Amino acid sequence: MNIKDRLSRLMQGRYGADEYSRFLNGAGFAALLLALVFTVIAAGLSAKHPAGSTVFHVLYFVFYLFGLLLIVYCMFRMFSRNTGKRHAENTRFLYIRNTVEKKWNRLIERWKNRRVYHYLKCPKCGQALRVPKNKGKIRITCSKCGNQFIIHS
Ligand SMILES: [Zn+2]
Repeated sequence: MNIKDRLSRLMQGRYGADEYSRFLNGAGFAALLLALVFTVIAAGLSAKHPAGSTVFHVLYFVFYLFGLLLIVYCMFRMFSRNTGKRHAENTRFLYIRNTVEKKWNRLIERWKNRRVYHYLKCPKCGQALRVPKNKGKIRITCSKCGNQFIIHS
């Protein structure tokens, strides 16, 4: 039996990799890499700044443990036989990632347009509104509830 057959037999009936496990794996290795950086800093500081060195030793330990936990959890999910539950976790992860990405993109857009638009909320209903800047005193009509108010743009 070659390695490929052995591996496919091992993974039979098990969940395998998905987007969530790829994320856990990446985050786990990133944490381990940071732990490595912290331990190098701790070693560099040990002679002259023992207190600073202790801080980086603690950081090293925390990130090392965190990274290991993430990787172990990733492995657990891949070898799990409870595929329904793992699939539900992945769906939830994708939903959260999508929400974060949308929020992030909106922030980027606001930053790019910061000289052109005001971003504000309707005082009555909370609807997000985008208003041109440098137009003097203007009357705004909320696109959702029709509430009118005046701002100096
Ligand atoms: Zn409104």
